[in-house]
Amino acid sequence: MIGAGYAGAIATNRLLASLTEAERPRVRVRVVNPRPDFVERIRLHQLAAGSRESVTVPLSDVLHEAAELIVGSAKMINPDDREVTVATADGETVLHYDHMIYAVGSVGAAPIPGAREHAFLLADVDDAGRAATAINGGRGQRVVVVGGGLTGVEAASEIAERHGDAKVILVSAGPVLGFMRSAAQRSILRSLRRLGAHVEAGVAVNAIEDGRIKLADGRKIEFDVCVMAASFAVPDLARVSGLAVDRAGRLRVDQCLRALDAPTVVAAGDAMVAPDAVGRHLRMGCASALPLGAHAAGTVLAAVRGQEPTRVSVGYVVQCISLGRRRGYIQVVKADDTPRPLHLGGRPAAMVKEAICAMVLDAPRNERTKAGSYSSPKGPRVAA
Ligand SMILES: Cc1cc2nc3c(=O)[nH]c(=O)nc-3n(C[C@H](O)[C@H](O)[C@H](O)COP(=O)(O)OP(=O)(O)OC[C@H]3O[C@@H](n4cnc5c(N)ncnc54)[C@H](O)[C@@H]3O)c2cc1C
Repeated sequence: MIGAGYAGAIATNRLLASLTEAERPRVRVRVVNPRPDFVERIRLHQLAAGSRESVTVPLSDVLHEAAELIVGSAKMINPDDREVTVATADGETVLHYDHMIYAVGSVGAAPIPGAREHAFLLADVDDAGRAATAINGGRGQRVVVVGGGLTGVEAASEIAERHGDAKVILVSAGPVLGFMRSAAQRSILRSLRRLGAHVEAGVAVNAIEDGRIKLADGRKIEFDVCVMAASFAVPDLARVSGLAVDRAGRLRVDQCLRALDAPTVVAAGDAMVAPDAVGRHLRMGCASALPLGAHAAGTVLAAVRGQEPTRVSVGYVVQCISLGRRRGYIQVVKADDTPRPLHLGGRPAAMVKEAICAMVLDAPRNERTKAGSYSSPKGPRVAA
């Protein structure tokens, strides 16, 4: 198992808990992850804002007791020899495998010049922790959040609510949450305003410098702290290993999640891309990583048992956004992630979102003792 995030953790636990007594002595699951903790990435905006002190849980409290954790980073996969080179604190080591699950997730992208040097990347746990230290809520402290998608909106709301004296500005190249229904966008913008966050939408950031961002329309915005929440990128492990990837570097898999050119490598989560027939609607999110991870375990189990794997089918029920601790917005969606004319707002939505955040950590944990305890809705029907 390469990666112990949402996809890797549920895949590990489902796989180990599914084994029969006869199979158990024959199957060994080694989990490679750069840190000994599970990172609750969906709470990173809470960490950055200071509304939560920690978002990590020891992996020993998340993974099945039979999983062997190797703290290290996979550097290269050699699918022909079924080997993976792993860098650990003690140096490099080569692990042999019969089956691999590739679940390395995603990282915060820094596509704007100067972002890496002058901004904190929200999607990186260490950077989010450093942002929390920098955002001290001093009167008039200027905090710029770059990115008008879900993570940018969640970060701006959380920071504005937590630090009422700070001046929070959300900058978005396009409309804020432009993929949502216009009624949802209006409602969420109202909530941001109520929290005191200012929104600059429809203007790209050209560069981030020391203490200011340069906008495409020539304006400059001064900041004390800049938080980058513009997009996700994926680790380049599959690409450097010569496996088939898309332009973003996501591992290309078949309908059962096997790598197109290396069927002993099965993938799940943000770091893979499935064929359109089963994956056109999939978004990066733990709402996808959990069912994909569970399915990846099934594909490996089928291979271990000499059976045919099944085709993946992942559907959605809601998109949910927290707007600080006291408000939220839950958009009910069809299986293909398109909105239904149904939503929940305000405090009840905040409570639902919090329950979902807890559930996505409980799901892999529960699989330790009961394989199949987590289930998810089926994906949309695909035209022939
Ligand atoms: C602020 C924020 C809010 C979010 N809110 C939501 C939300 O409300 N709903 C939702 O569905 N999604 C949300 N997401 C997205 C969600 O967190 C990700 O889509 C999810 O974490 C993907 O799960 P994963 O298992 O694929 O990857 P990850 O959770 O990223 O786990 C990947 C693991 O692999 C490890 N790894 C990476 N490279 C290597 C390597 N070379 N060797 C070994 N291990 C490696 C990583 O360190 C990590 O532990 C949010 C993300 C952020 C940042």
